[in-house]
Amino acid sequence: MAIRSKLVAGNWKMHGGTLQNRDLLNAVLAATADLSGVELAVCVPYPYLPQAQSILEGTHVSWGAQNVSQHEKGAYTGEVSSSMLLDFGCRYVIVGHSERRALYGEDSHTVALKFKAAQGAGLIPVLCVGETLEQREAGITEQVVAEQLDAVVKSAGINALNTAVLAYEPVWAIGTGKTASPAQAQEVHLFIRGRIAADAAEVAEGLKILYGGSVKAGNAAELFAMPDIDGGLIGGASLVAEEFIAIARAAKD
Ligand code: PEP
Repeated sequence: MAIRSKLVAGNWKMHGGTLQNRDLLNAVLAATADLSGVELAVCVPYPYLPQAQSILEGTHVSWGAQNVSQHEKGAYTGEVSSSMLLDFGCRYVIVGHSERRALYGEDSHTVALKFKAAQGAGLIPVLCVGETLEQREAGITEQVVAEQLDAVVKSAGINALNTAVLAYEPVWAIGTGKTASPAQAQEVHLFIRGRIAADAAEVAEGLKILYGGSVKAGNAAELFAMPDIDGGLIGGASLVAEEFIAIARAAKD
């Protein structure tokens, strides 16, 4: 059985400022330098990528972006390409975050194109999937997650998941303070891993599947103790140094 190391990634969303970023990143660096066996990353707004690079280069914390264009270059005003992210040393890019899907109309097809563009350029996509409250209450969580996952697998191929990260983020738990219980999250993580294993067992075994949705210092350890939860994608709590540090520590066995 593959042993998957944990990843704790912050998603700053549209928050930050150069002074607060500097303090936050320096605090995280100082307090996690001794953490082995847990990878840390922050996904920051585009303008702060040079700052993230200059503070984090050569350290144990990686950085990345929260979105990317599906196009390589051209007349796409306001868009940012994968090669631009690589220019600033990004390792990760989030694709298909539920806020992008819900607020910016990104469907699974577009997300799959973004996933492929990012991976083709050498970035590690963090593919987000998850159901809304209505979908959960209608009993179609697995169908929704399967559709979001299958669109990428169909377009990029199952082996593309060897160099990607998945994040299960129930929409009803994002930024709401409502966390999925460890058992609820584990159930969906197991479903995702099983669906991938049906195609390629080794790919499924090696794939990191993060949980995201109101993870905080107080609930991280019990979530990360679940066998198919390989870390977290952390929104609000990643903006508070002590919270993010405590969550990172909770990922250590
Ligand atoms: C997110 O933005 O991916 C997220 C999980 O947010 P929060 O932790 O604030 O719920």
